[in-house]
Amino acid sequence: MKVWPISRTNRMKPAAFLDRDGTLNINRIGVYVTKPAEVKLYACAARALRLLADKGYRLIVLTNQSGVARGYMSLKRSRMINLRLKKLFMQKGARLDAVYFCPHGPEDGCSCRKPGTGLLREALKDFRTDLKGSIMIGDKASDILTARKSGITPFLVFTGEGRAQMKKHPAALKGVRAFRDILSAAHSAADRTKSV
Ligand SMILES: [Mg+2]
Ligand SMILES: [Zn+2]
Repeated sequence: MKVWPISRTNRMKPAAFLDRDGTLNINRIGVYVTKPAEVKLYACAARALRLLADKGYRLIVLTNQSGVARGYMSLKRSRMINLRLKKLFMQKGARLDAVYFCPHGPEDGCSCRKPGTGLLREALKDFRTDLKGSIMIGDKASDILTARKSGITPFLVFTGEGRAQMKKHPAALKGVRAFRDILSAAHSAADRTKSV
């Protein structure tokens, strides 16, 4: 499901697919963001997004929101949270192109919940995307697996659950590029592109 209509321009571009909780906004393990007021961006996140946008990446958030299926928040509330995220970044000069979210739980058997690729496929229907040039930044093995299944270069961040996930899923995360936070990941991603 997506939160707002896509932009008018749709030229072929690489995308930076971004996890939300623990990557863009502060998230502690096992805690769900269930209110717009609980969205607190990492201090470096807006700078990271401005850098990626300058390098020609479209900025697309892919987020699992099983808190909806678990009854912690309504679908409407989940949308409001994503709009809040968009607004906070706008205030810092960073424009998100879209947010796609999965409202299902692990038991629902949907294809959109990461590490499923449904959210990504939904985004690819809306945006002409240079997959080879695209990246995914996230704090969980499920983000990394989603990227790897799709031929996208993954970047793990040590914010959110990143460090714990390295211990929990060593096989899945073997050899992944790992960074202190989204800004370090963005610098690395920027280095591998020619500016557009
Ligand atoms: Mg996360
Ligand atoms: Zn789903």
